[in-house]
Amino acid sequence: MLQTHYDVVIIGGGPAGLATAIGIASDLLTSNMKAKILLIDQRSKDHQRIGENVPSDISVLLQRLGVESEFSKGGHEPCPDFASVWGGKELLYNYAVVNPYGHSWRLNRHSFDLALVNKAKALGAEIVWDTRFIETSRRQQDGHIAYELFLQIDSQETRSVKADFVVDATGSKASFAKGLNVKKTLDDKLIAIVHFAELEQPHKGKQVRIDATNNSWCYHTLMPHQKVMSMLITDPSERKALEKDNYHAFKTRLAKPLWVGDKAQEIEVTDESYHTYMINSGLLEQVEGENWIAVGDAASSFDPIAAQGIYKGIKHGIFAAEVVLAKLKGTEPQINYGDMIQQDYRQYLRNRAHIYQLEQRWPDSEFWQKRSK
Ligand SMILES: Cc1cc2nc3c(=O)[nH]c(=O)nc-3n(C[C@H](O)[C@H](O)[C@H](O)COP(=O)(O)OP(=O)(O)OC[C@H]3O[C@@H](n4cnc5c(N)ncnc54)[C@H](O)[C@@H]3O)c2cc1C
Repeated sequence: MLQTHYDVVIIGGGPAGLATAIGIASDLLTSNMKAKILLIDQRSKDHQRIGENVPSDISVLLQRLGVESEFSKGGHEPCPDFASVWGGKELLYNYAVVNPYGHSWRLNRHSFDLALVNKAKALGAEIVWDTRFIETSRRQQDGHIAYELFLQIDSQETRSVKADFVVDATGSKASFAKGLNVKKTLDDKLIAIVHFAELEQPHKGKQVRIDATNNSWCYHTLMPHQKVMSMLITDPSERKALEKDNYHAFKTRLAKPLWVGDKAQEIEVTDESYHTYMINSGLLEQVEGENWIAVGDAASSFDPIAAQGIYKGIKHGIFAAEVVLAKLKGTEPQINYGDMIQQDYRQYLRNRAHIYQLEQRWPDSEFWQKRSK
């Protein structure tokens, strides 16, 4: 049952929102302070999230959140190497196209998300699913700015709660910040068409496979619990044609690239489904303001070639929690959160350009040329 007033409301229960909730709640507990923290998400508790590859040094962040032992029991599988056909016909192993830190993990997303949810709850944060943030109004309250948040519960009932501090963890749409007229500068738009399936026969493959075509790149991975995922990343203008006739053109395109195509054909699968995701690479013009802060994809969203989205979301959550705690305690934060987000974003743009520049087989292809700058 929602209360009428909270010290902190976090909108969005992805990795960034949950890490922020854990960061705030665990510090409050050790400081013997009390504050009411609410996290809401428009999705249901069991919604299957996208993103399964995380770099090895995520363990450092999970340790800070106090969930490293849950992670070790979570059924995640190591990913010993990447095999890519990128920049030439030759197959390259362990090539740091995606992950500069070596050994990464293929997540069991269900247990990963559950570990974060359970930790946040155990520390005292209230989590409410099926609750969508619609809009906000700013209010003057005891000499400071607070927010009234209008929420829709179970797609029916509408009600409002008051928040002294709001965390925008709504993903790349940054719905709360946009409601305050803060703009997001986009430097690229892509689509990802994704095929999920279950393997008919157990398979021990552990590699992630990446391949490039003249106007797209593809990714194939076996995941924990005998699941398999193949995805094609391309320009949004291709969407209609690829989705037509039950994704016929997508299936044909995925079968073409030598490396991913061979792998996708080699295995027998069941329980197949296809999904299209919009991907915006961009940075919010202002990532914090009076009694609000944006985290994860809401603050800055990356091309999936970076494979950094989950890591970045958790990192933002940990640092944003310090800003929120300073506010609750009436102290100054020890970090410059806005500078950190901007520096990370500039680094990401340099890395992204470097990765796309490596592929020079199609000098006339707009897909590759415009992302190499
Ligand atoms: C196809 C694809 C593949 C990817 N693969 C990887 C990968 O392998 N590794 C990786 O690290 N990253 C990957 N990413 C990126 C990764 O998914 C994101 O960067 C990461 O999930 C961002 O976390 P977040 O918490 O900021 O946002 P999200 O995970 O997007 O969570 C935002 C949450 O906010 C909720 N929400 C949104 N609006 C509202 C509202 N109005 N009211 C209430 N709730 C709301 C949503 O329901 C959602 O649960 C991939 C992305 C795509 C599209």
